[in-house]
Amino acid sequence: MDGVSGAVTWETRELHTAQPFGIARWTHSVYPRTFVTLDAGGVRGQGESAPNAFYGETGATVQAVLPLLAGALEDPWDWDGLRARLDARMPQGHPSVKCALEMAALDWCARSAGLPVWRLLGLSPGALPESSYTVSIAALPEMRRQAREAAARGHGVLKVKLGTAQDEQIVAALREEAPEAALRVDANAAWSRPQARRMLGVLEAAGVEFVEQPLAAGDLEGHAALRGVSAVPIVADESLHHVSDIVALAGAFDGVNLKLAKLGGPLRALEALRLARAHGLGVMMGCMIESSLGIAAAAHLAGLCDWADLDGALLLADDPYRGLEWTAGHLARPQGAGWGVEAG
Ligand SMILES: [Mg+2]
Repeated sequence: MDGVSGAVTWETRELHTAQPFGIARWTHSVYPRTFVTLDAGGVRGQGESAPNAFYGETGATVQAVLPLLAGALEDPWDWDGLRARLDARMPQGHPSVKCALEMAALDWCARSAGLPVWRLLGLSPGALPESSYTVSIAALPEMRRQAREAAARGHGVLKVKLGTAQDEQIVAALREEAPEAALRVDANAAWSRPQARRMLGVLEAAGVEFVEQPLAAGDLEGHAALRGVSAVPIVADESLHHVSDIVALAGAFDGVNLKLAKLGGPLRALEALRLARAHGLGVMMGCMIESSLGIAAAAHLAGLCDWADLDGALLLADDPYRGLEWTAGHLARPQGAGWGVEAG
């Protein structure tokens, strides 16, 4: 146990991907994740903090702020109060810690009520959109292998990470390895404006479904111009940090990638989702590399989305939670109480 504050405890574990996971900015195999537990009245609610350096967090910042923020979780039924107390203590940043605490509150409430969280939130039942499976940046033969094996396992949607010196060859190679799969592309903010223009033709020719974050996070003008000439929809990820970013993004993108850990929790993601819809944006439910606990929380909202990218736990060698039912990229809507997953 790393820490305790009243009825809230937390523990950090290093999770490992089965293969090194590479994107334009970095390649990692080890991911520190902090699991928060609210234990009160014989009911346990859990949440996960999946910090990402791009959003200003690391394992160390999570450790530093949890003792300051955990006390905000005093009444798990008071969701607005929790948010207000978190923002009063730490107005800026630390979204994955706020997410973990909000997740623990919702899990605790839903378990107390004997319901899945999506039921507690009054969301409609129904199938979730098929999740993409990510082919991360590696040597080209390795990327080919990842795509071929994923397609053979039945994954119908592949998302390929780009932002290398050989992006055109990668797209062509993956199209070849998985001719039937829907192909999505994520440049992780790595392209220049001219590069992105050049790549649009390549993506269109390969029948790519959409491209995520082609340009730098702050370059809304560049994205708006790109969108004006692109037949391939453009989806914001790194450009979206806060719910309040959504309105400005609506003029520059066709859709947004929502991740609980960057937006500050499931309820904030739900708010972002509804705002995005009101502004005519397509919506993807995304994830970090995180355990089945974090993925489950995203899955509870994914039925409201056009697209899902929830493979974070599928890439792990040591997922500490179980309970999600996957058939290749098809994730069954969780039916158990709370988030519907258990440790072990
Ligand atoms: Mg992305």
